[in-house]
Amino acid sequence: MALAFDEYGRPFIIVREQDQKTRLKGIDAQKANIAAGKAVARILRSSLGPKGMDKMLQGPDGDITISNDGATILEQMDVDNQIAKLMVELSRSQDYEIGDGTTGVVVMAGALLEQAERQLDRGIHPIRIAEGYEMASRVAVEHLQRISQKFEFDADNYESLVQTCMTTLSSKIVNRCKRSLAEIAVKAVLAVADLERKDVNLDLIKVEGKVGGKLEDTELIYGILVDKDMSHPQMPKQIADANIAILTCPFEPPKPKTKHKVDIDTVEKFETLRKQEQQYFDEMVQKCKDVGATLVICQWGFDDEANHLLMHRNLPAVRWVGGVELELIAIATGGRIVPRFQELTPEKLGKAGLVREKSFGTTKERMLYIEHCANSKAVTVFIRGGNKMMIEETKRSIHDALCVARNLIRNNSIVYGGGAAEISCSLAVDAAADKYPGVEQYAIRAFAEALDSVPMALAENSGLQPIETLSAVKSQQIKENIPFYGIDCNDVGTNDMREQNVFETLIGKQQQILLATQVVKMILKIDDVISPSEY
Ligand code: ADP
Ligand code: MG
Repeated sequence: MALAFDEYGRPFIIVREQDQKTRLKGIDAQKANIAAGKAVARILRSSLGPKGMDKMLQGPDGDITISNDGATILEQMDVDNQIAKLMVELSRSQDYEIGDGTTGVVVMAGALLEQAERQLDRGIHPIRIAEGYEMASRVAVEHLQRISQKFEFDADNYESLVQTCMTTLSSKIVNRCKRSLAEIAVKAVLAVADLERKDVNLDLIKVEGKVGGKLEDTELIYGILVDKDMSHPQMPKQIADANIAILTCPFEPPKPKTKHKVDIDTVEKFETLRKQEQQYFDEMVQKCKDVGATLVICQWGFDDEANHLLMHRNLPAVRWVGGVELELIAIATGGRIVPRFQELTPEKLGKAGLVREKSFGTTKERMLYIEHCANSKAVTVFIRGGNKMMIEETKRSIHDALCVARNLIRNNSIVYGGGAAEISCSLAVDAAADKYPGVEQYAIRAFAEALDSVPMALAENSGLQPIETLSAVKSQQIKENIPFYGIDCNDVGTNDMREQNVFETLIGKQQQILLATQVVKMILKIDDVISPSEY
C-alpha cells in the first residue's frame, strides 16, 4: 500500500494488485473447500427420497419456484463460491447424462467430502485419499453391476418400466398421480422409441402445460398441440384426414404500398378496387382448394373480411402461428413450409389424421390438437394443474420419468432403491478395504461409510431413527446376503424393496457414484486458492 497525492493535493491510496487477493494454501484450502461443498450438500440432503422436503426459491424478479429436484434447486440458487459452483455443475451433469438422481449425487459427494475431512485430520495426504476413493468407486461400480437385475419388456408389456418411473415420481410433489404420470411417460417414450436400436429421441416428446383443470387431466397426445384456435368461430371444430397448407407468406390481398399513389375520388373507383381485392383473395382461396388443402395454417394474420370470406368458402384457417410451431407442424405432418404463395403444390401439404379444437374451462381458451400425423412419431405430454408453479414442477418431474424410461430402454438393468444398492455397495467396499495394505484402505473404508449416508438421509427424512434403522437393515443384508433390503420410507411394513417395487436404473446409480467421486477427487487436489478479496 502506498500513499500518494493527486494534482490538487488530495491524498489517495494505491493498493498493489497482489494485496487485493486473498490466498488460502495447503490444508487450509482443502478445509475451506470441503466446508463449501458440504454446505451445498447439506441443503439438498433434506430433499432426498419420497418423504423429502421441497424448496421454495424466489428469483430476482419475485417469481417463485417450488421444487424437489436437486438440479433445479441448485440451478436457481445464487451461489458464488467456486467450489459450491462445482457442486451445481455436478448435479447438472447428472441431469444431462441420466436425468434422475440429481439430489442423490450431491448428497453422496457431500458425504465423501465429510469423510475426507476426517481422514485429513488423521494426517493422511489428500492424494492418498483421492486414490483410495478412486479404488473404492471402482469396486462399488463393479459391485452394482453384479447385484443388478435385468428385466424384460416389450411394447405391450411395460409394467416394469412403469414401476421404475413410479419410483422416480414418488419423491415429487406429483406423487399423488404417480401411477398415471408414470404410464404417460412410459407410453410417450415407447411411442418415439426405436426398440431395435435401443434408442430414444427425447426431442420428439414435447411437454406442454396449461394452467387450469387438475393434475389428473394430464394427457398424452399422439401428435402435437398448438396454442391457437380456428380464426373464425363458425369454422368446423374438427377436421378428419386434414391436408394442411403451411404458409409463411401473407394470406391476404396485397396492401397498397405507401410509395404508390392511388387516387380514389369516386364511389365507383372505390367499388372496383374493393372488388379487385376481393377477387384477388378469392383466387388465393381457390388455389388452396385446388391443390387439395382442407386447412390453412398461416404465420401471418388476415383481416376480418378475409376471415369472413374463408368461412364462406369453407376453408378453415389458423392465423398467427409462431415460427417454431410451424416448423414442428411441418415436421410432424410431413408437409413443407411454403414461403411464396405461387409455390403451393399438392405434395407440399402436410397430412394429419385428425385436427380438432378443444376449449378449456369457462374461459375462451382453446387449443388445437393435431393428431395421428402422417410422418412422425412426435407426441405431446399435456400437463394440467392448479397453478404455474405446479405445472413447472410437474414438467420437471415428467422429465425425470422420461429420462428414466429412456435409460431403461437403452439398458434394461436395474438395482434396488431406497438405499438398498448403497448399503450393499458399502458392505462390498468395506470388505475390499482389507485387501489393500497401504494407507488407501482408510480412504476406502471412509468411502464405504459415505455410501451409508444415502440410506441415512432417506431414513432421517422419513422421520425414522437414522442410525438404528440403517444398522438394522445392514445386518439384515449381511445375515441373508440379499441386496434388496432398503429403508422403508413409506412405512409399508417391509424392508424388501423387491416387494415395494422400488427400482432405480443401474446406469443412473453407477453414474452417481462415478460423478461424485470425480468431483470430490478434484476438490481434494486443490491446495491453493487465489481469489480477489472481498470489499
Ligand atoms: P434424486 O433427485 O436423486 O432422484 P429423489 O428425491 O428422487 O432424489 O430421491 C431418490 C431416492 O429415493 C432414491 O435413493 C430412491 O431409491 C429413494 N426412493 C424413492 N422411492 C422410494 C420408496 N418408495 N421407498 C424408499 N425409497 C425410495
Ligand atoms: Mg428422483
